[in-house]
Amino acid sequence: MNELVRKRFEGINLLRKRLGDDRIGFINYGGYELIDDKHLPSVDKIAFVNGKLKDIFTTDTFEIMNGTIKEFGFNESIVKSMIYSSFESQIDTGMMMSALLDYAASLGIRIINGCEVETLGEKENYVEVIAKNSSGKEKISFNAKSAIICTNAFTEKLFPEIKIKPGRGQVLVTKPIEGLKFKGVFHFDEGFYYFRNFENRIIFGGGRNLDFDNEETTEFELNEKILNDLKEKLNTVILPDQKYEIDFCWSGIMGFNDIKKPEIKNISDRIVFALSCNGMGIALSSYIAKDILKKFTI
Ligand SMILES: Cc1cc2nc3c(=O)[nH]c(=O)nc-3n(C[C@H](O)[C@H](O)[C@H](O)COP(=O)(O)OP(=O)(O)OC[C@H]3O[C@@H](n4cnc5c(N)ncnc54)[C@H](O)[C@@H]3O)c2cc1C
Repeated sequence: MNELVRKRFEGINLLRKRLGDDRIGFINYGGYELIDDKHLPSVDKIAFVNGKLKDIFTTDTFEIMNGTIKEFGFNESIVKSMIYSSFESQIDTGMMMSALLDYAASLGIRIINGCEVETLGEKENYVEVIAKNSSGKEKISFNAKSAIICTNAFTEKLFPEIKIKPGRGQVLVTKPIEGLKFKGVFHFDEGFYYFRNFENRIIFGGGRNLDFDNEETTEFELNEKILNDLKEKLNTVILPDQKYEIDFCWSGIMGFNDIKKPEIKNISDRIVFALSCNGMGIALSSYIAKDILKKFTI
């Protein structure tokens, strides 16, 4: 566990340093875990977990903050305890991507979007990449000294022998809510549900555990059953006494493996793949990028 936490912390700090907090919308309102009856025994483990994380964070990572449940307007008959961590923050991923593209351009890196790679293989002293052109009818071929494959949950299409499980996440965002009572990032039910404020809106996602089979897909579609569950939890747990409207919904695809850690592997001397961020790729990716470089022998 410690190794993964350390990498996430190091990764996000690298990202902040590289792009700048202002350009990624970094805000530190802290993070909270909402604990229901079923998960109450986990509260007794806080001291143990804080002890384990002592060498990564300077002070206690988690503390109980039950007084805030009412202040934030959550349903006190369901949320029985709340655990707070000052080390959790939020970023604006749209701003972050835009800053990353600008940063890459400033280094002379050219990013080509909308170009689907069909095959990729190592030749004698180069890597050959064959992609569809924009019409999808003709093929384009690129040669490269080396290649890094970061296609995550979509990798099986390119390399059927690489096993990675897609996991779709359903997300909704509310319209601005007058008098929204909380700021921060929040999780409950072992991380299967997650929400945060974005200004005075709520972004709320999760519920994959309600329909694992249908959510193990690379299709960007909405799942009504899960979205209804998210709305129900907004009504009963998060905003029991407040009026709100849903603005829009979307889905995103994550890549999972059995070891629940990212995999970085050579598939030949010149080709490395970095996959399966297991839903932690925003935090981990800058760290992973450093690790990838160590894999190249040429
Ligand atoms: C709802 C949701 C919430 C999340 N919350 C968090 C969070 O709080 N913290 C966190 O750290 N992480 C979070 N994540 C996870 C994070 O978004 C992912 O781990 C991260 O996006 C993985 O990055 P990646 O570049 O490896 O893969 P992806 O972002 O999946 O990118 C893969 C890219 O490869 C492209 N591609 C695929 N096949 C081909 C092909 N044949 N040719 C060309 N291009 C191809 C795809 O179009 C895509 O752009 C969340 C994810 C979701 C869906």
